[in-house]
Amino acid sequence: MDIDAPLESVKGVGAKTAEQFRLAGLETINDLVLFLPRKYEDFSDVVAISDIRPGKQTIKARCEKVETKRVRRGMQITTATLYDATGKLQSVWFNQPYRVKQLSAGDEFYFSGEFEFSYNRYQLTNPSAEKVSDTPVSTDRIVPIYRSIKGLKSQVVRKILVALKPFITMLDETLPVDIIKREKLISYSDALLALHFPKSIDDIERGRERLGYEELFVLLLAAQLNKQANARLSGWHIPFDQTAVRHFVEQLPFKLTDSQRRAAWEIIQDFEREIPMNRLLQGDVGSGKTVVAGLAARQAASEGFQSAIMAPTEILASQHANTLSALLEQLGVRVGLLTGSVKGKAREALYENIAKGNVDVIVGTHALIQEKVKFHQLGFVVIDEQHRFGVAQRQGLLKKSQRMPHLLAMTATPIPRSLALTMYGELDISTLNERPKGRKPIRTKVWSPNSREGLYNLIDEQLKAGRQAYVICTLIDDNPALEQKSVQEEYKKLRVGPFNHRKIGLLHGKMKPAEKDAVMTDFAKGNIDILVSTTVVEVGVDVPNATVILIENADRFGLAQLHQLRGRVGRSEHQSYCYLMMSDSSAPTRRLREIEKSDDGFYLAEVDLKLRGPGEIYGRAQHGELNLQVATMGDTKLIARAQRTARQFVESGRDLVQYKGLATQVEKYQRLTKLN
Ligand code: ADP
Ligand code: MG
Repeated sequence: MDIDAPLESVKGVGAKTAEQFRLAGLETINDLVLFLPRKYEDFSDVVAISDIRPGKQTIKARCEKVETKRVRRGMQITTATLYDATGKLQSVWFNQPYRVKQLSAGDEFYFSGEFEFSYNRYQLTNPSAEKVSDTPVSTDRIVPIYRSIKGLKSQVVRKILVALKPFITMLDETLPVDIIKREKLISYSDALLALHFPKSIDDIERGRERLGYEELFVLLLAAQLNKQANARLSGWHIPFDQTAVRHFVEQLPFKLTDSQRRAAWEIIQDFEREIPMNRLLQGDVGSGKTVVAGLAARQAASEGFQSAIMAPTEILASQHANTLSALLEQLGVRVGLLTGSVKGKAREALYENIAKGNVDVIVGTHALIQEKVKFHQLGFVVIDEQHRFGVAQRQGLLKKSQRMPHLLAMTATPIPRSLALTMYGELDISTLNERPKGRKPIRTKVWSPNSREGLYNLIDEQLKAGRQAYVICTLIDDNPALEQKSVQEEYKKLRVGPFNHRKIGLLHGKMKPAEKDAVMTDFAKGNIDILVSTTVVEVGVDVPNATVILIENADRFGLAQLHQLRGRVGRSEHQSYCYLMMSDSSAPTRRLREIEKSDDGFYLAEVDLKLRGPGEIYGRAQHGELNLQVATMGDTKLIARAQRTARQFVESGRDLVQYKGLATQVEKYQRLTKLN
């Protein structure tokens, strides 16, 4: 048998069964072998009927009387009296009339199910039943529970796997033998046998350890190899110009924090090397990433290199362009903005200026990737809120240089260490772990809709003091049309009601970019007191005078999103407030409690990872492709072990030629994160 053969070639799998498997995404023998149980139920201990206790139980018994009755709403109830040498008990099945035929033959069976009190007596509910003379697959063992496949009984899936057992036993080893030995792992085939046919809980753990280790090793090896390949590329050498940097720092309206200084220094050092930088700048919301990128762009410009800064939204791109013009134009660095809103002649002129090198720093949305954009000499690429971009978009921008440019990816969603190591293993990481001096922690409070009035008074006090506020309405049912409606209604309500003496602005995703821009500019200038908005303000918007944010239906948001939204305030020396309004007066969720307690993005990221898993948080673009079936990101010990091995593997100059399966996997991951 061949591992890549279609499932139909397995004995007992007919065309119809194979089709059901295929619909569930399982086509080959290998697919099924790697279709691992979701969980297990321990039915391995057979008890005598006289010893039975409530809970999951297995008995070995014969059937005395079995019958099916039709009851209300077409439901069929099958009851049976089971007996062994020690006693009798009742069993019941719902909508399984075939049990009558199965059990009438007088054989001895294993029954595994829940022994529980229902309908006024103790009985076995919906037990699996298998003839003792057959090899049992769903009783008398630790029963693997697989993700259900439409049209196939779980029994069938287990039976087919039992049929494949000899085949699994013969599977080749996938990891290098010396690694298995040193790491005290079990073999590949033993791990699969242990997971499909565990004899003990320990078997399951050993099997998971082995396969999880391999998944992580492959991922980390790909990262290491990418790093090595990156080191062989020749990039732009941008020498350190101390005067240029000093001028930049001196004219800043504030003092850089220590971590900003450190991050900037790390970037400047990377610029000086021949190999292209591949660095992630992670900093909590409001930690001041933009100015770090600006400093680096200044350095690049003074050596004649252009910088491209790509942001996920127009609002953000134009904000960055404003910030950077203010910082850089006075130093003779020319800043340009390219978004979808720049049209006609202005756009053509901008293209030309970029191509001729008349603009040094080009800020834009993904418009920067377009064919027509040609750079004179692109030396430095910044991707802001990088998790909002896919691999192809990043590549698209990097390709615009004659050589591989230096890359700085920025993110305001701090990444837990375990994830940084696995997902971004090939990146160098700079971290901004402090806020600018003088910032007070944001006071966060969960609020019940019952006491809305009081809250509006608190908000108005801030407005009276000259501050500004955000009111965020959420997307309901994932429906942009409804979202627009809810934000418009809120806008009206506040305008005629409690804040009729204030200037109120409206912002949502359906507005034209130019309209959005106008509203944001008004808000930034202080012409608007309250900005009622959808989550379009979530990413990066910076209006330091805003000190209050009220998030409606806060219980509907994820932790990372709430933290990002909250980060719109607390951007000046004024005390800021974040109010999390519940949808109703029920008890606040764990998420809301956590966010009320802490405004440390690194801590919240760890909590979020535990609550939701990585895919939800860090964007499908990168993570959806990380097919970790067994390993979990919380398993830092296993990650560290695999990391060490991957590093040694690369450093010792070994290659993967002899490990074909492994090589294929590694290449897949490499393509995902490679620079070129
Ligand atoms: P983020 O890291 O969330 O992208 P920004 O770069 O938007 O943060 O910066 C947040 C705000 O803090 C901006 O108004 C910026 O001008 C200001 N800022 C940045 N660094 C400092 C600093 N060292 N001291 C004071 N204010 C700073
Ligand atoms: Mg930002």
